[in-house]
Amino acid sequence: MITYNPELKIFHSTKINDSQFFSGFGSRELGDARKINNIINFFADQYLSYEKLVILQQIHSTNIEVYQKLNKLDQIEKLEDTDGTITNQPGIILIVRNADCVPLVFVDKLRGAIGISHQGWRGSLKKLASKMIKTFLNQGSKLEQLICAIGPAIGACCYDIDDDLYYNFQEEFEIYSTKIFFRKKGRWHLNLAQLNYLQLIEAGMKKENIDFFPFCTKCDNKRFFSRRRSRSENFEEMLNFIMKV
Ligand SMILES: [Zn+2]
Repeated sequence: MITYNPELKIFHSTKINDSQFFSGFGSRELGDARKINNIINFFADQYLSYEKLVILQQIHSTNIEVYQKLNKLDQIEKLEDTDGTITNQPGIILIVRNADCVPLVFVDKLRGAIGISHQGWRGSLKKLASKMIKTFLNQGSKLEQLICAIGPAIGACCYDIDDDLYYNFQEEFEIYSTKIFFRKKGRWHLNLAQLNYLQLIEAGMKKENIDFFPFCTKCDNKRFFSRRRSRSENFEEMLNFIMKV
């Protein structure tokens, strides 16, 4: 289940958060996560001790980095050319930022491994979610141990796409067509979060290990930033994170 914590101003998955793992999907009340100070202030307010904030650059790729803590002193490390990362090191906060794209947070509690990824239409078309699972398995995780929460993203209600793109998705995901598309006012609408959910299931994850976020970032102006709503290249973004405490 996904619940909201009004004190922290974050949503989180009850399947993931416990005494060892802390994750969250920030609301717009935390301010624009493009501003690093807003991120630093959020964690300072929790009196959380951590070694590093690892922030993904997000270039709409399917590049995944297995993060190994190097002996860099900087408390903030930016991972260039990366849209997904996995680590089993404690004290590391993994961060992606979004405003309509789908954020995924992963955990393997038995191995103590965590992961995070960011997928807009490009990452969803190129199956970044499946690649994240493969990377976990390569690192020694077992499928049945993996838990994933799908964070707030733009809903199918507001995500209409051009016909060219529709055909690209049809080519790759025709079997899911009726589950991820509907037509409204002569336009195709795509359910990105649902497509990522289906990719997780196809990759072998258990349904009961996946938490799904029911709202739409564009419709819900009070709680979320939305790139489509802002209609600007200068849109604001929300904080999404996971750490092993
Ligand atoms: Zn909507």
